Amino acid sequence: MKRQYIFLSVLFLLALNIFCWREVFALSEEKMLEVDFLDVGQGDSIFIKTPEGHQIIIDGGPNSILLQKLAERMPFWDKTIDLVILTHPEKDHMTGLLDVLQNYKVDYFLWTGVIKNSAENKKLAALLEEAQKPKRNFLASLDGKSKSTKILIAKAGEKIMAGEVLIDILFPHENLNNQEPKNTNDTSVVSQLIFGNNEFLFTGDISSSAEKKLVNGGADLSASVLKVAHHGSKYSTSDIFLETVKPGIAVISVGKNSYGHPTQETLKRLEEFGIKILRTDTNGDVNMVSDGKNIILK
Ligand SMILES: [Zn+2]
Repeated sequence: MKRQYIFLSVLFLLALNIFCWREVFALSEEKMLEVDFLDVGQGDSIFIKTPEGHQIIIDGGPNSILLQKLAERMPFWDKTIDLVILTHPEKDHMTGLLDVLQNYKVDYFLWTGVIKNSAENKKLAALLEEAQKPKRNFLASLDGKSKSTKILIAKAGEKIMAGEVLIDILFPHENLNNQEPKNTNDTSVVSQLIFGNNEFLFTGDISSSAEKKLVNGGADLSASVLKVAHHGSKYSTSDIFLETVKPGIAVISVGKNSYGHPTQETLKRLEEFGIKILRTDTNGDVNMVSDGKNIILK
């Protein structure tokens, strides 16, 4: 009996020890911000995990690969995304988000609300309408799906706090909800994520004309990491924009394409500014970790 008691005590202490170490590791991991530029082919998709554990997705890429990437990064029981940002409703940024809306509960969905006449956009509208309805199903309420998705219309000046992380919306300058522009690229949501001394600038597919508006708008655009606009198109990433943003690292989200992305012109401009270039087509997933002071490439 006594031997059994000692054995159980040792087992209990061992379990406690493992639990404590797990907590210590969890604490040290918690202080880091993770920014993952996902290799989704020709398109954009970025997965962000804040030091407090908020999960944020910017764009969903051109296919269903995002679901697989999320499964590798999130525990299987976690079916909630805190914030989804759709920069603009084009297939190469939106398609994967249709899957996310069908498989995850999204707390906040931020976009411009611009209208584009396409089958994908009709599907998005239907999914967003459904997501906004409160769920009354008992099983759905168990995993938090009883809450409905809140739609936010992006406009410069808005700020989102996720623990210690701040997301500043810098573009578009006007509310574009329900407008139907000819070209949606220059309606892209541009956001700056700030964690301590590290800033990440996400630019969607804006051209140099929107870059000029941003520079003239006077907002602080400086960033440690720049997500290069429009997959490295020569009509974006202008000299004046690079002079203002002054990034140390540029990430080009690009896959096999017929547009010549990324173009030699853009690559040359980035090189002339001495900016380190990372590409999802050659580097695969580009994973960065920040403690608010330094950015480490994984
Ligand atoms: Zn694009």
